[in-house]
Amino acid sequence: MMELTGKIEQITAEAEALGCYTEKGAVLKDYTTFKIGGKCDLLVRLNGEESFARLIPLAEKLGVPYYIFGRGSNLIVDSDGISGAIFVSGTDFSDISLIDDTSILCTAGTPLSRLCIFALDNGLSGLEFAYGIPGTLGGAVYMNAGAYGGEMKDVVASVRVMDRNGCIAEYPADKLDFSYRHSRFTESGEIILSAVIRLKKGDKAQIKAQMDELMEKRRSKQPLEYPSAGSTFKRPEGSYASLLIEQCGLKGVHVGDAEVSVKHSGFVINKGNANFKQLMELIDIVKKTVKGKTGYTLECEPLIITDKKL
Ligand SMILES: Cc1cc2nc3c(=O)[nH]c(=O)nc-3n(C[C@H](O)[C@H](O)[C@H](O)COP(=O)(O)OP(=O)(O)OC[C@H]3O[C@@H](n4cnc5c(N)ncnc54)[C@H](O)[C@@H]3O)c2cc1C
Repeated sequence: MMELTGKIEQITAEAEALGCYTEKGAVLKDYTTFKIGGKCDLLVRLNGEESFARLIPLAEKLGVPYYIFGRGSNLIVDSDGISGAIFVSGTDFSDISLIDDTSILCTAGTPLSRLCIFALDNGLSGLEFAYGIPGTLGGAVYMNAGAYGGEMKDVVASVRVMDRNGCIAEYPADKLDFSYRHSRFTESGEIILSAVIRLKKGDKAQIKAQMDELMEKRRSKQPLEYPSAGSTFKRPEGSYASLLIEQCGLKGVHVGDAEVSVKHSGFVINKGNANFKQLMELIDIVKKTVKGKTGYTLECEPLIITDKKL
């Protein structure tokens, strides 16, 4: 424990020298949309490529465990806390610029909503589907986020990445291994620094109307009034998680404040003070019931961050 404390001090000093915001003992529920998660040893908000290039290889060299967070909108974090460092790639690393008539260069921490509005302001179409997904560009590329018939793979032209030793590379779209909620980054562990997004010229009024329509769909169908990580389960081959959950009579089933939403059965929500244990218990009940009654295997979509062996 003493050993980790000294290493955390070294990372903190380096981060502060780079002008990054640091927070020892940060409470991670404040950094996730589920509003669940205990303390970590250190949280650092990365503020530029140099902060990635200096701090991540340093954590590697010191053997300090660490995670990269974007907006924390697809994460389930242990309420008992996480040892090590959390590096947040968020609004402190958020830059957007036009490269040419139809291409945008965007850093990983940029909120997708900001990117969508930038595209709209420049009369560029293709990202309407992403408006309302509450993540960052980095998290969206990592997950190949998608909705309403669109996916990141349709618009990402290339990605600039860094490996965990600080080596930088650029991959074109055909090297990104995109599939449903999957990219090469799911396995490679590389860090996404920025991406080029290629869109088409469009009519601003039409783009806006489409964005507004999709946002309204979200508001009317999804329990946005409660903390969650969006869809809790991936779509199983041949069916829909929400349909199976509803057919199994699981709407409204809860463990403590963790509840299968009545408004949208694909969402597990935090109705107040749900903790990690209750959430995992409820997810397990849903998986077992659906398997038992329908034969379908449900897989959790959000990534689970815990020191425990599950
Ligand atoms: C209300 C709600 C609605 C949602 N709707 C949708 C939807 O319609 N479609 C959809 O696909 N998802 C949806 N989601 C889930 C989520 O918003 C997306 O998966 C989003 O892309 C995650 O981005 P993030 O920045 O929050 O990533 P995080 O949740 O912080 O992280 C997700 C993963 O990405 C990794 N990561 C983040 N940044 C980087 C980086 N720079 N380099 C390398 N790895 C990185 C993290 O380490 C982690 O493994 C929804 C969530 C909520 C709460």
